[in-house]
Amino acid sequence: MTKFDAQSLSTSPSPLTAEPEDGALVDVIVVGGGPSGATAAHELACAGRSVVLLDRAGRTKPCGGAVPPQLLRDFNIPQSLLVARVNTARVISPRARKVDIPVGQGFVGMVDRDVFDEWLRVRAQQAGAQRITGTFTQVDRDADGTAIVRFTDGRSRHGAPRSLRARFVIGADGALSPVARQCIPGSHRARHVFAYHEVVKSPTQDSEVFGHDRVDVYYNAPLSPDFYAWVFPHGPTTSIGTGTLQKGFGLREAVAKLRADTGMDTLETIRREGAPIPLAPLPRWDNGKDVVVAGDAAGVVAPASGEGIFYAMTGGRLAADAVEEALQTGNARALRQARKNFMRLHGPVFFVLDIMQRFWYTTDDRRERFVAICRDRDVQQLTFDGYMRKQLVRAKPMSHVRIFVKNLAHLVGLAPA
Ligand SMILES: Cc1cc2nc3c(=O)[nH]c(=O)nc-3n(C[C@H](O)[C@H](O)[C@H](O)COP(=O)(O)OP(=O)(O)OC[C@H]3O[C@@H](n4cnc5c(N)ncnc54)[C@H](O)[C@@H]3O)c2cc1C
Repeated sequence: MTKFDAQSLSTSPSPLTAEPEDGALVDVIVVGGGPSGATAAHELACAGRSVVLLDRAGRTKPCGGAVPPQLLRDFNIPQSLLVARVNTARVISPRARKVDIPVGQGFVGMVDRDVFDEWLRVRAQQAGAQRITGTFTQVDRDADGTAIVRFTDGRSRHGAPRSLRARFVIGADGALSPVARQCIPGSHRARHVFAYHEVVKSPTQDSEVFGHDRVDVYYNAPLSPDFYAWVFPHGPTTSIGTGTLQKGFGLREAVAKLRADTGMDTLETIRREGAPIPLAPLPRWDNGKDVVVAGDAAGVVAPASGEGIFYAMTGGRLAADAVEEALQTGNARALRQARKNFMRLHGPVFFVLDIMQRFWYTTDDRRERFVAICRDRDVQQLTFDGYMRKQLVRAKPMSHVRIFVKNLAHLVGLAPA
């Protein structure tokens, strides 16, 4: 357990009123201004801490942008940020069987990440966080062990080297997090799904292959050998993408095939982009001293669905809570609470989704059976309760028994595929 000199810690918070000079000491530097980092910076600024939000500028995160309504509630996000509301998920099997799963009372929201992420960063700034545009390079130590965060200035032409000192550092710098790789033991062993999508101009009319208020999810080996391919509507634009664990799989070719098969190859392409999605939470999120990671940097994307925005924001909030407690108590052990609390809240859902992905996403025969299972009302209810409310629903034990029996029947081939 690392103890800090309580005298040196700011127990009476002191927000920043201007960008700190090089070498200045701040309470927290958050590296990365995506959903995770912007949320962490917002929470700590609201607590009155001196916070720097360091973010590389100029790139929109490649993302399908689907978010559950729980995210809007939990993080006070206005519905005006939604570019589309989805009320049906259509799952499509290798043999083109289609099952429509109604969302029920709620909706799945769609956000455009350029607008959504910037809105979160501005909110953090308005709460008192200082935004600095720059690229993190490394964490060094000064003579008394305090973290020196080095970065290149994003505003100067040649990226002048700069540094600030921080009592705590939150690494929210995405899937291949340089902060995690430098500071968190075991992080270099993280595995990833590779995801790629094309943002196209949306079809003007709804059809069998496109709905402005429907997401289409394709389970089919040529489109993805171990994940899924998607068509996500975003109002005037649409994301068509796929992901896989297999290095060397032709993601671009798979999206081209999906677009050709659905007649969407004639739509104007606006952007082509890809990024890794982490596959499993890292075994450790902190360095036992003054660094903690959150969001994709901590490996928290839901298996089977690839959903990461809600979990990144939750992780950012929990990292901020843990840092706040460490600042108040002078006890670095508090940093461990970030992972502990996250896994207590979401570990069971991740566990079930992981098993689901490992089993159902492996062969086309299983995918066919999986889509068949999705016809079941109990399965639909459970899936959407889990997605919308972010927890396993315990209230209906008989429906769990029925699902188990039906799953078993499909597994042993007693039920028709
Ligand atoms: C193709 C694709 C589709 C997806 N679709 C969905 C979806 O529909 N719904 C969903 O919920 N999730 C989806 N995800 C996952 C989701 O995008 C991520 O889980 C989420 O963005 C994680 O947020 P984050 O804040 O942890 O990281 P990020 O959003 O990756 O943000 C990291 C930030 O750190 C910055 N950064 C990185 N390195 C440095 C550095 N050295 N210095 C300074 N700043 C740095 C980056 O510029 C960025 O702003 C998808 C992912 C991909 C790749």
